[in-house]
Amino acid sequence: MQNERCPICGKGKLTREVLEESFEYKGRTMVVPDYVVYACDVCGEKIVDKETLERTGKVLNEFKRAVNGKPKYARRTFEDPYECVFPWPEDCLVQCGSNGIVMASGSLEKVFGSSEPLREISENVSYITAFFEAFPNDIIPGGTFIRGEGKTIAEAEKKTWDLYVRYKACDHPAYERRRHTNGCGFCMKCGMFNDKAFDPLTKCVICGKPTYFTFDIDNVPYCEEHADQMPEEKIPEWKKEYKKEMAEMEAAANAR
Ligand SMILES: [Zn+2]
Ligand SMILES: [Zn+2]
Ligand SMILES: [Zn+2]
Repeated sequence: MQNERCPICGKGKLTREVLEESFEYKGRTMVVPDYVVYACDVCGEKIVDKETLERTGKVLNEFKRAVNGKPKYARRTFEDPYECVFPWPEDCLVQCGSNGIVMASGSLEKVFGSSEPLREISENVSYITAFFEAFPNDIIPGGTFIRGEGKTIAEAEKKTWDLYVRYKACDHPAYERRRHTNGCGFCMKCGMFNDKAFDPLTKCVICGKPTYFTFDIDNVPYCEEHADQMPEEKIPEWKKEYKKEMAEMEAAANAR
């Protein structure tokens, strides 16, 4: 279009200009860089470059969506979904509850570890009545799990969001296992939980590969590949029942 005759006035010549154009939507401003126009040296009209127009259209639609913010709902077991206050990513599963869990994490240890009468202690530790859980996929591969607790769901969501922001800003330089042997760990800088921070400490009895896949009645580990080599008499009872149920369901399905 450079040096072409102006299609508006038919007299001037067009000159390419690269600008920074700002757009306003519902009181918020968005700046689009590298905004290419062709300006007429006679009538002053500016014609927007076709590619710029397409790119800007896409960016503005995204901007509008971000401003309007499609509401996100957290799953609740016994009540209607809770409408989130914070802008959780679209693919982040969220759930919450306002009942069911009454005691703060660790409160049971406090109760059992104390010689004071149970009622008095539980009054101190059972004030938390709501929780909020998020499973964001945008911090580490495979996702992570964040839980916040509070007196209300809104308070629990706020705590979970604050953790999410902190975890997202951290580069997670090193993890510690704390008391876990299954490979999960906690970032030593921000405290984030990562279920694949380490190899499990337990090793498959057949091949020696670190695994936490399954255990026999004596707690001997078997990896996924060698799980079927577990001796019949060492298979835990619940597992046998589960296997039987699955076989029955399969037989029923085949009979139909
Ligand atoms: Zn013109
Ligand atoms: Zn970290
Ligand atoms: Zn194995």
